[in-house]
Amino acid sequence: MAQGPLDQLGRPLGVLRLSLTARCNLACPYCCPEGTDPPELLSQGERVQLVETAVSLGAHTLRLTGGEPLLHPGLEALIAALQPLRQRAEGDRRGRLREIALTSNGVLLSAERARALKAAGLDRITLSLDGSDGASVARMAGLTGGTAAGAVVLEKVLAAIEHARAAGFDPATGALKLNAVLTRGGNGDQLLPLAQLARERGLELRLIEFMDVGHRNGWSADQVLSAAEMVARLGERWPLEPIGRSAHGTASRWRYRDGEAHVAVVASISAPFCGDCNRLRVTADGIAYGCLFATGGTDLKPWLRPALDGSGLARNLGGLWEARTDRYSEERQEQQRVASSPQAAAPRAEMAYLGG
Ligand code: SAM
Ligand code: SF4
Repeated sequence: MAQGPLDQLGRPLGVLRLSLTARCNLACPYCCPEGTDPPELLSQGERVQLVETAVSLGAHTLRLTGGEPLLHPGLEALIAALQPLRQRAEGDRRGRLREIALTSNGVLLSAERARALKAAGLDRITLSLDGSDGASVARMAGLTGGTAAGAVVLEKVLAAIEHARAAGFDPATGALKLNAVLTRGGNGDQLLPLAQLARERGLELRLIEFMDVGHRNGWSADQVLSAAEMVARLGERWPLEPIGRSAHGTASRWRYRDGEAHVAVVASISAPFCGDCNRLRVTADGIAYGCLFATGGTDLKPWLRPALDGSGLARNLGGLWEARTDRYSEERQEQQRVASSPQAAAPRAEMAYLGG
């Protein structure tokens, strides 16, 4: 692994989350995606250059996201173009990319696309699904066509799970997982049905607390279904044993005592994990953010575009990481103990632009 810089809190860079588009084919009200992409999207060559540089600074994992990354026609080509970074020897001083993962709503994941992604060299897929019936899927995906439209999306996502499995993304090795955002009042009633759906399919379900990313989703603390409450409710139905959160991970994992798969919670509101956060986010137009809740990003395009100086990007990205102090979720929690968060009003980027 490349020995990269540490940020101001001693945290190494480990994961690059690269958004390929801010657009989406769904309109989840907790996310509020863009209708159009920003004007200056990175080119394929620039994305490869960016990933290579992040790897040289210590990143070992790339997560491709969006908006909806399957809307990006060059997805498979990008994954294929990154394979040489994976084939470097362990200990290569330029670093080695160990894993490429994808987060998708699954609607466009046909059998053919799943096979193409596997053939290109994708390691892991996380699919997102917030309901187990047409009505709740329609509500959480912001569909205008009601229950019938929700049922169509649900059917596509369930098919996508099987297409991914058939293509070789094996849930038993963690190569296929399911994400769900649970909100009180929105789809809190879907907790047990979604857990049942995931258990039947041998998938790890990752239950995400509703986060105050951006300004458009109308977030308020009373809509957050806390990880502790989710775990308690699940545990009453299926007894659970804690596994814990791995270093730099986002999810605290639990094992069902009856041996049927695992479940995990992402408690970024109720139990923040900023202390060992190793994630750098870059938007589809090349703006780097050190945190989902950061109030400002840094445009990397000037360092990607002209080949003025081959080391400019590494120097600037490294400097950006070294200057990083972000720990918003912990600060939110500290400030909420005394008053409402003053940072909540500061301008912040939206989730579909940042990529989750
Ligand atoms: N469109 C893809 C998808 O939905 O999987 C990838 C992008 S989406 C922004 C990545 C993840 O962020 C999804 O699992 C989604 O549920 C989650 N997400 C979006 N907005 C959120 C919010 N306000 N709080 C918590 N999770 C959120
Ligand atoms: Fe689209 Fe994903 Fe946002 Fe839902 S969470 S609107 S699927 S980008």
